Amino acid sequence: MENNLKLDIVTPHGLVLSEEVDEVAATGTEGEFGVLPGHVPFITTLRIGMVVLRKGGNTEYVFVSSGYAEVSPDKVVILADSAEKSEGIDVERAKAAMKRAEERLRKAEEIDFARATASLERATIRIQIAESRKPR
Ligand code: ATP
Repeated sequence: MENNLKLDIVTPHGLVLSEEVDEVAATGTEGEFGVLPGHVPFITTLRIGMVVLRKGGNTEYVFVSSGYAEVSPDKVVILADSAEKSEGIDVERAKAAMKRAEERLRKAEEIDFARATASLERATIRIQIAESRKPR
């Protein structure tokens, strides 16, 4: 049984995080999943959400938009369209994005509903992470 677990989070802009962790949890399109060292390999697509990483009693939250995760016994690789650590989130930008999305959804005419909803979801989760609140 493996005792090590490395987490890499990568976006088209580069490496966001590469750390040894004790445990990783994320939200796949089929549901939430948790990974400890020695996990059986699998691949899943990801929902807009957060990656929770635990290490030595500390918990950190990283925002990820859609992408996928590849799990192997000693490594989790997350490839996402965008990802930010809590301290990398610009709260004012997320609040502005939230406002734009809410206004589009309020008008509810001639809008791409799925796009506005996804934008609102990204902004909401970014704000929750930046304000260090666990949303669920
Ligand atoms: P916006 O409308 O503000 O661009 P968005 O949800 O459409 O928000 P994304 O498409 O997810 O933005 O991301 C585009 C790029 O901008 C990515 O590199 C992402 O990391 C970065 N980004 C977006 N919003 C924020 C934010 N609030 N804080 C830090 N980086 C952000």
